[in-house]
Amino acid sequence: MGLIVQKFGGSSVKDAERIFNVAGIITETYKQGHSVVVVVSAQGDTTDDLIEKAHEINPNPSKREMDMLLSTGEQISISLLAMAIEKLGYPVISLTGWQAGFITHSNYGSARIRRIESERLKSELDKKNIVIVAGFQGINRYDDITTLGRGGSDTSAVAIASQLQADLCQIYTDVDGVYTADPRIVKGAVKLDEITYDEMLELASLGANVLHNRSVEMAKKYNVNLEVLSSLERKPGTTVKEVVKMEKMLIKGVAKDEDVARIAIIGLPDTPGIAYKIFSTLAQKKINVDIILQSIGRHNTKDISFTVPRADKETAISLLEEKYELFGAEKIESCDNVVKVSIVGAGMQSNPGVAAKMFEALFEANINIQMISTSEIKISVLIDRKDANVAVNAIHDAFYQTIEK
Ligand code: ADP
Ligand code: ASP
Ligand code: MG
Repeated sequence: MGLIVQKFGGSSVKDAERIFNVAGIITETYKQGHSVVVVVSAQGDTTDDLIEKAHEINPNPSKREMDMLLSTGEQISISLLAMAIEKLGYPVISLTGWQAGFITHSNYGSARIRRIESERLKSELDKKNIVIVAGFQGINRYDDITTLGRGGSDTSAVAIASQLQADLCQIYTDVDGVYTADPRIVKGAVKLDEITYDEMLELASLGANVLHNRSVEMAKKYNVNLEVLSSLERKPGTTVKEVVKMEKMLIKGVAKDEDVARIAIIGLPDTPGIAYKIFSTLAQKKINVDIILQSIGRHNTKDISFTVPRADKETAISLLEEKYELFGAEKIESCDNVVKVSIVGAGMQSNPGVAAKMFEALFEANINIQMISTSEIKISVLIDRKDANVAVNAIHDAFYQTIEK
């Protein structure tokens, strides 16, 4: 008998039939004698639809009002799911983020969880209630509703699991686990029985949105027992943990991130301090820079290119344009038509030739690499957006054919 946190994503609660399916999973767990806390996301495409609705009214709404609007999606799901469980005859209560005690930082749209004041959660569990909590939302110190960033319900679930020291945190979704690539893009993607927190964190941060990257960060920090599994098929999923069995896989997965834009600053003076001036300008506005490439200085000038999240591109360019003279640049160019494709795996640390194999796969598919970045357990390339899915498949095939030999 333990405490289990179960999270259900938007597709798992998209209509009445799916809600009753989920209610079945929850009540089965409860019947086994466990205490159950459930976190749910907004139904189906509700969050996207709400964003569209907002933009019909005001193309540039304040982030506070956006959070007020978006948080309603989850409030619909918690109440409907609680009603379904009531109908099945079990004790249940739904709670919004603030009722469940989610205190966040104040930044609307991507608030981080400060703490969970869990008295209410605990007292409802003591009363033997199944507790249904709205994911993705909390409240800040101004008593305003905040949201945790797209996909943030996973993080709500892991936060509750760590706060209540749950025995298990199950993330139910529309695929039956974590695969070596998005199974919707790569037909031959292989389901992983287990993956380390570090590898999952890299995959999630590099675009594999099956888990919100902050949920994995938190699961690692607090050693939460995490499992990703299907809400539609009853079978074991993927366990995310600190250490996994030794295996032959050179890489654990291929990920694609479409949320990138490239900026190039051309004709900079080849003198000390230029990179510092550029990147500190961006850092002041909290713009995250990812892959950076600097050309070797020739004829006393050099170029610096880098990637930023797509949503930050315009702000980055206006900041840089304001300081043209300070930098002494000739011009600034930018491009949205790019994606980042990455491979991840702890196995690459001890195996030379992994990068060469990735680049060979791209060469054979006639795909040009614009930028490259590497770390101990990942290699990323920036390529033309139109080549993205071909690249993911080509790279995946190259590595997975080798394993089967
Ligand atoms: P939910 O609404 O349940 O939170 P998401 O859409 O956020 O679901 O995440 C599940 C989706 O993640 C899958 O439908 C799949 O297309 C995508 N995905 C991307 N990379 C992977 C991967 N490596 N393994 C499994 N799913 C992946
Ligand atoms: N409903 C939110 C979103 O669509 C949160 C989530 O699904 O986790 O991003
Ligand atoms: Mg999700």
